[in-house]
Amino acid sequence: MRAALVVANWKMHGTVVEARALAAQVRDGLKRPRGIEVVLCPPFTALAAVAEALAGSAIGLGAQNCHWETSGAFTGEVSPAMLAEHGCRLVILGHSERRQQFQETDAQINLKVRAAFAHGLTPLLCVGESAQERSQGLTFNIVEGQLRAGLAGLSPEALGRCLVAYEPVWAIGTGVNATPAQASEVHGYLRGLLSELASKEIAQFIRILYGGSVKPENAGALLREPEIDGALVGGASLQAQTFLGIVKKAAFRGGNPKE
Ligand code: PEP
Repeated sequence: MRAALVVANWKMHGTVVEARALAAQVRDGLKRPRGIEVVLCPPFTALAAVAEALAGSAIGLGAQNCHWETSGAFTGEVSPAMLAEHGCRLVILGHSERRQQFQETDAQINLKVRAAFAHGLTPLLCVGESAQERSQGLTFNIVEGQLRAGLAGLSPEALGRCLVAYEPVWAIGTGVNATPAQASEVHGYLRGLLSELASKEIAQFIRILYGGSVKPENAGALLREPEIDGALVGGASLQAQTFLGIVKKAAFRGGNPKE
């Protein structure tokens, strides 16, 4: 079984003081995480403070976006080298909020994925369909296009080190999650595509997370699906106890009878 991974996407929330406090609460609530990996992705401004709070713990640091160039005249952007310098190990790329609100294209996302690798960061590529696309029966076409374009040109070895998140746009921040069956169907489809792009063996190692209104109440059912390897958590990651509730479900997904 692939080790479960839970990633917190704090989005544009939290001052440095608030971020440091939240990271410390998560750290203290997860003294010895077993069978689970956890990564916190605060806003850029809080990376240093959160890195400090997490130092010496098993919790990783990640970022929510990056540019594809290492440096240059790109006002307002942050490079993957800068993230690596802060101790980030992962970067979320192609989140639907960036695709929709900042017009990020698949081609740009692909450049970012490659740049992340070049600086030792693991890209977490997000894919997902809108409500309208789902109702038109286009879910598989949309996620396939985003996956193929986002990972274009990567070697099988690099593909094996990618993370993917299926995040249906209609489930993000709405309180309406995909059902375990809906998510599992898409995850299975994505793994089939990854087998084609890399190999069947490599695809078995790639973790595919689900994101979209994950909460402690629905995490157990979602994460018990064999195809769901973890969660990308937005709103519910902003409260330590709620986030820790999800992490606990992920850690026991292998079959704690009480879960
Ligand atoms: C997200 O933004 O990646 C996300 C999954 O948000 P939420 O958990 O709030 O739906």
